[in-house]
Amino acid sequence: MNETQKEFQDLARKFAREEIIPVAAEYDRTGKFPWDIIKKAHGLGLMNGHVPQSCGGLGLGVFDGCLVAEELAYGCTGIMTAVEASGLGQTPVLIAGNEQQKKKYLGRLIEEPLLAAYCVTEPGAGSDVNGVKTRAEKKGDEYIVNGQKMWITNGGVANWYFLLARTNPDPKAPASKAFTGFIVERDTPGITPGRKEMNMGQRASDTRGITFEDVRIPKENVLLGEGAGFKIAMTTFDKTRPPVAAGAVGLAQRAIDEALKYSMERKAFGTSIINHQAVAFLLADMAIGVETSRLAWMLSAWETDQGKRNSYHASIAKALAADVANKCATDAVQIFGGNGFNTEYPVEKLMRDAKIYQIYEGTAQIQRLIVSRALAERAKQL
Ligand SMILES: Cc1cc2nc3c(=O)[nH]c(=O)nc-3n(C[C@H](O)[C@H](O)[C@H](O)COP(=O)(O)OP(=O)(O)OC[C@H]3O[C@@H](n4cnc5c(N)ncnc54)[C@H](O)[C@@H]3O)c2cc1C
Repeated sequence: MNETQKEFQDLARKFAREEIIPVAAEYDRTGKFPWDIIKKAHGLGLMNGHVPQSCGGLGLGVFDGCLVAEELAYGCTGIMTAVEASGLGQTPVLIAGNEQQKKKYLGRLIEEPLLAAYCVTEPGAGSDVNGVKTRAEKKGDEYIVNGQKMWITNGGVANWYFLLARTNPDPKAPASKAFTGFIVERDTPGITPGRKEMNMGQRASDTRGITFEDVRIPKENVLLGEGAGFKIAMTTFDKTRPPVAAGAVGLAQRAIDEALKYSMERKAFGTSIINHQAVAFLLADMAIGVETSRLAWMLSAWETDQGKRNSYHASIAKALAADVANKCATDAVQIFGGNGFNTEYPVEKLMRDAKIYQIYEGTAQIQRLIVSRALAERAKQL
C-alpha cells in the first residue's frame, strides 16, 4: 500500500471505531436509516472514491474502495451495505455512461450526500437475470417502463437508480440483446417504493420492492445503447464483488477481535478460555480464513485496477469471504457461550449480518458456477 492508501485506511478505521461502532446496535434495533453516518462519511470523502476527477471525484481504484469497505464493515455491515450499494448503482454509469451522464449523475453524488441504487432483481428473477420481466417500450424519444423490482438496497432512499428492463419482447431473444440499462430519477412519476423489508440482519440497510407504472424515461438516459443492458449489469460485478468480499472480511475480522478479547477475559476451569486448545484452535481457524480471504479480495481488486479480466478471482474472493464471515461469526458466538446468544453482546448481530454475504451480489452457488465454468474453459487448453 502507498501512503495515500494507508491514510485512507486509517481514516476509515478511525471513523468505524468512533462514529459507527457506538451507534451500530441502535440502528440495528430500530432499523432507522443511518443518514447521520452517511453524511459524515460523505463529508470525510469515505464514499464515492471511484468517481472520476472529471466529475469532481477522486478517481480512485477498486482496491482503494475495498480498503475503506473493509474498515466500514468492521463497524457495521448494515451501514457499509448502504454505502456499497450506492457504489453498485453507480458502477454501470462508471463503466458504460457517456461523459454527460457521468457528470450529471456521478457528479451529483459528490456535491451532496445522495445515494444510488441498482435495480435488477425481481420477485420472480434473482440468480437468473435473464428472467427479468420489467418491460421498457420505446415511444418517440422516451421509454415507458412497467414492472416490479424486489430486494433493492437503498430502494427507498436513493436519488437515482440503475434499472435493467427488457426492451425486446421476444422471449427467445438472447440475453445479450434483450435488455437495456437505464438511469432513472427516483422522483419520476409512477415509481413507488414498497415498505422497508424487515431482514434477518444488516437492518440499518434499506431494502425494498419498487413498482414501476408507466414510468417515462428520456432516451438520453439509456446506457450505451438499446440491448446492451445485460452485459453492463453483469460486468458491473467484476468491480463490485471485490468490495463485497472486503466487507465480509471486515465482519470476520470484527468477529475475531471480539472473540479474542472475550477469550482472554472469560475464565472456565480455573483459566482463561483461550488456554483451552479447542477455543484457541477456533481462533486460529478464524485467522486463517480472514488472512486468506483478505488476500483474495486484494488480488481480484488489483486485477481489475490493472485492466485485467477478474471475474474468476472476484467470484473466488466473494464466495470465500462470505463463507469465512459466516464461520467466524458463528464461532465467535460459540466462544461467547450463552452471552453470545444475547443482544447485549456484539456477536449475535455479526452472525445475523453475515448470512446475506452468501446471498446478495450472486449467491454462494452462483459464484461456484462462475468458477467452475472458468475451470471448464481452462480444461480445453490442458
Ligand atoms: C438484503 C438484500 C439486498 C439485496 N440488494 C439487491 C440490490 O441492491 N439490487 C438487486 O438487484 N438485487 C438485490 N438483492 C437480490 C439478490 O441479489 C438476490 O436475492 C440473489 O441474487 C438471489 O436471487 P433470489 O433471491 O431470486 O434466489 P434464487 O435465484 O431463486 O435462488 C434460490 C436458491 O437457488 C440457488 N440457485 C439458483 N440458480 C442456481 C443454479 N443455476 N445453480 C445452483 N443453485 C442455484 C441459489 O443459489 C439459491 O440458493 C438483494 C437481496 C437481499 C436479500
